[in-house]
Amino acid sequence: MKRQKPAEISATYGRLRAHHSDAHCELVHGNPFELICATVLSAQTTDVAVNKVTPNLFQKFPNPASMASAGEGAIEALISSIGMYRQKAKNLRGLAALLLAKHEGVVPQTLAELVELPGVGRKTANVVLGVAFGKAEGFVVDTHVQRISQRLGWTKETEPVPIEQDLMTVLPKPEWPHASHVLIFHGRRICSAQKPDCETCPVNDLCPSAFKAEHVGRKGGPEKFKAVAAAKKAAKKAAKKKSSSRRALGTKSSRSA
Ligand code: SF4
Repeated sequence: MKRQKPAEISATYGRLRAHHSDAHCELVHGNPFELICATVLSAQTTDVAVNKVTPNLFQKFPNPASMASAGEGAIEALISSIGMYRQKAKNLRGLAALLLAKHEGVVPQTLAELVELPGVGRKTANVVLGVAFGKAEGFVVDTHVQRISQRLGWTKETEPVPIEQDLMTVLPKPEWPHASHVLIFHGRRICSAQKPDCETCPVNDLCPSAFKAEHVGRKGGPEKFKAVAAAKKAAKKAAKKKSSSRRALGTKSSRSA
């Protein structure tokens, strides 16, 4: 996939930013503690599903002290409609307990401290830093950000951490927290995994994948696609070679007959 040049990246991002001017974090929360809990719950689950369970959860366990001392099964009962709820409930209890033990019940403001909390990886930590504290330490790379940055030619990587490193190079630091929301909105509204709507896309004259994006950002990414295409080409070549040697052999035997 062709990589965009810096001027093209800047023009593309500017247009996407303007087009999705309402881009924001869709997890409903009232403070950093609620945001970190909601983000932990959102792993492999939609924000809509999380927003359905958090009002009751935060009403019953509004702070780390109440969450850490929640009875066995009490959190599970409130979040059982979302995926992996048992593990997530365990993470919430552990996270709250560690906040009390190490941070006086306050959500820390560094990536290094955040990723020590149960259930919190780089993605969750970057969401909390960007949304709750307006800090740009890294770039949130979810499935939408991953796919769109590949399609736009901003990265050739296929794993979240190297993709994050590329995005931190191509976009200016103050934009990192907002840019992930812009790309997520673009992925949800226009550049979907299965059917990107290149016709109506505001950057279809700049995007190197325009009208041919279907394979880019699928599971395994462009590298897997290339490997499959190369394997098919090799198989075709071998079949062709086999059939011409059969023909040559046929000619030879008919001559000798
Ligand atoms: S042109 Fe198509 S592939 Fe490129 S960003 Fe727009 S919708 Fe996605």
